[in-house]
Amino acid sequence: MGIIAIHGGLDTSREKPYLEVLQEAGLKGYQLLDRGYIQALEAAINTLEDSPKFNCGYGSVLNLNGVAEMDASIVDGATGRFSAVAAIRQIRNPISVARRLMEKTGQVLLAGQGAFEFAQKEGFPEGNCISEEQFRAWQKGKDRLARGMSPSQNLFTGLEYRGDTVGCVIWDGENLGAASSTGGVSLKMPGRVGDTPCLGGGIFASRTSAVVCTGVGEAFVETLTAKYVDEEIAGGAHPQQAVEQALKRLDELRGAQGGILALDYRGRIGSAFNAGQFPVVVVIDGMIKENFEPVNLRPVLSGE
Ligand code: ASP
Repeated sequence: MGIIAIHGGLDTSREKPYLEVLQEAGLKGYQLLDRGYIQALEAAINTLEDSPKFNCGYGSVLNLNGVAEMDASIVDGATGRFSAVAAIRQIRNPISVARRLMEKTGQVLLAGQGAFEFAQKEGFPEGNCISEEQFRAWQKGKDRLARGMSPSQNLFTGLEYRGDTVGCVIWDGENLGAASSTGGVSLKMPGRVGDTPCLGGGIFASRTSAVVCTGVGEAFVETLTAKYVDEEIAGGAHPQQAVEQALKRLDELRGAQGGILALDYRGRIGSAFNAGQFPVVVVIDGMIKENFEPVNLRPVLSGE
């Protein structure tokens, strides 16, 4: 028994190949649920990190220097344990490094070179995370910047018709957990860290809820949006109500848009977005929920 819900980020293509990888990730996670919900979360995110279609692991967007610097985090709602890596390079599965950090140390966040060295010490192989496609998009973006033009690539996916940051929430009938992995935003400053490894900003889990967010990370961090969703649910809101309210608040406070996915302690789902596209796949008791669609708030917010 259990539920896994997984999102492919903002502005992500809803074409079949993208949905199929999300479905594969959800099912793989579900298959491992009997080994624990943390194992299931890791397996689901690993599937997306291994795919060049999404902005995480191999295929991440590149920063201004042409480097893939990735953020990832995992939260165990039952114990309150959290761990993350930030601006890590040359490691294809940052979520696995975050999980190892949780299990082997008392640290919660390792960044940059320190995160890379920990990964190496733990036996994670060094690997290229720059796909040919992202490299070409980066070259084009840099070229436009040099000519005083704004880069034409999509902020979140680096390219059109592609995938973004990924996030997963899980409920095993009793416990809740959340995990997320990203290359961040395209052409970001070297060393820039977004909301994905910020507890309460882009991710949260407790005994009440599990929440993952996507969008411009700075806005989620400054408004503690993931924690806000948890508090709304703790106060009695249905997760759907909570995520919609959080997106409205984000828009009011920061003029920012995004997508949020949440699960609560009763296995109820909330998912909504107010920009671009936000594919979500839900696996309930091992089966993909047919025709699941997150709520698109855009027409409501813009008064269309
Ligand atoms: N939230 C991510 C970041 O700002 C980007 C995204 O969700 O697409 O790093």
